[in-house]
Amino acid sequence: MKKIFYLYLFFCVFNLNAQITQEYIFAKYESKIDSLIRKIMEDDKFYERLGYLCDVFGHRLSGSENLERALDWLYSEMKKDGLQNVAKDSVWVPHWVRQEEKCELIFPMQKKIPVMAYGGSISTPKEGIEADVLVVSSFEELKEKASLAKGKIVVYNVPFVSYSQAVPFRFRGAINAAEVGAVASLARSVTPQNNSLHTGMMIYNDDVNKIPHGTLNSEDAELLHRLQNRGITPRLRLTLLNETLPDFLSWNLRGELVGLEHPNEFIALGGHIDSWDVGTGAHDDACGCVATWAAVKYIKNAGLRPRRTLRIVMWANEENGVRGGKAYRDQHSHLPHSLMFELDAGCFRPSKIGFSGPDTIFSIVKFFEPLLQKIDSISVVRGGGGVDIDPMVRTGVPAMSLWTESEGNYFRYHHSEWDTFDKIVAQDFKKCIAAIAVAMYLYADLPVDYLSFIKQASH
Ligand SMILES: [Zn+2]
Repeated sequence: MKKIFYLYLFFCVFNLNAQITQEYIFAKYESKIDSLIRKIMEDDKFYERLGYLCDVFGHRLSGSENLERALDWLYSEMKKDGLQNVAKDSVWVPHWVRQEEKCELIFPMQKKIPVMAYGGSISTPKEGIEADVLVVSSFEELKEKASLAKGKIVVYNVPFVSYSQAVPFRFRGAINAAEVGAVASLARSVTPQNNSLHTGMMIYNDDVNKIPHGTLNSEDAELLHRLQNRGITPRLRLTLLNETLPDFLSWNLRGELVGLEHPNEFIALGGHIDSWDVGTGAHDDACGCVATWAAVKYIKNAGLRPRRTLRIVMWANEENGVRGGKAYRDQHSHLPHSLMFELDAGCFRPSKIGFSGPDTIFSIVKFFEPLLQKIDSISVVRGGGGVDIDPMVRTGVPAMSLWTESEGNYFRYHHSEWDTFDKIVAQDFKKCIAAIAVAMYLYADLPVDYLSFIKQASH
């Protein structure tokens, strides 16, 4: 009897999904999608809200008053929008504060060197560190020259080819330098932009001496390297003063458009509301938060109520700890989620919807393409994810993300003073909202049994 029941269930599921073809989706949804896209592209309301968020509250490093004020404002705006179940979920976040930073070349000539500490760096003594410099181009070269590194400030002069190639020198540069006896380390800014300082996350290893770690721009990294190549040992005086305070109680913010048929099946979509403490985190990632919020609000305004619940989430801590995404997993993974979506690639021209999850679902998402292409040339590809959604994705929930085409600008702006609202192009931002709205509405409304597909794929 049980067998027959499961067989029956299988055919129900099979039939439920059998009718989903590209033609079905296009015919059923085209007129709704056309009017949704038109309304989004005509309206500046969320572009203005994004500007307000960036300009009025400023940067939003976890633990800062700016972030708490921004969250309070977003909470009340979401309520004003008539979103349902608007709530704050508590998250303990790290609280690191940048205080003072300066650096001077004192040999062979006097020159100011602009520097910036990496997030989480310890301080130098108040009066600074004065030491000779050892410049290297790789961790291998540092190993070869280990005997020369003791008591020095190690400078990593590694040009930016790609983020993943350059970022290890920021991330673990202090550990490698301390292992060979350096007293501090500086890494060339992880960016294709010259004359520009970019901060970011770094780590220590508890078994290795902790040393101050920061960044300098490409011109100064090159200058120090050229001096060394001429047989001159440059000497620096470096001051980096920061403080790590006790963890701070902050919030993930969420709000919903409750599903008509499956109110307890969730599609969570969002970005991280924290940013680094330079610039105002406009592309990284205020725009991801506001674009996902906007997408749900426009779906609501159009009177479209999808089958499943769309849940906007603004994660409170990504940049220096991923505490927001982990807290969301701890507090909500007991609820059925059929998708986690994130936009954390900057709000440039949308180019791809990336998906990671069962083939059965991917082939359905691929059918969204003709409707997405009403916005721009957007393709649906394999490969979705994001730092904030990763803890939930690891529990087996499919991931989707919007990838954008920045023509190299994302890494010029992010984690630096460049990341401000003037870099947001209204038309591109609105296209991002439209792409999210189309993908989320279709995914949330289709008569597909995602949860059984997810379950089948996990066996
Ligand atoms: Zn980000």
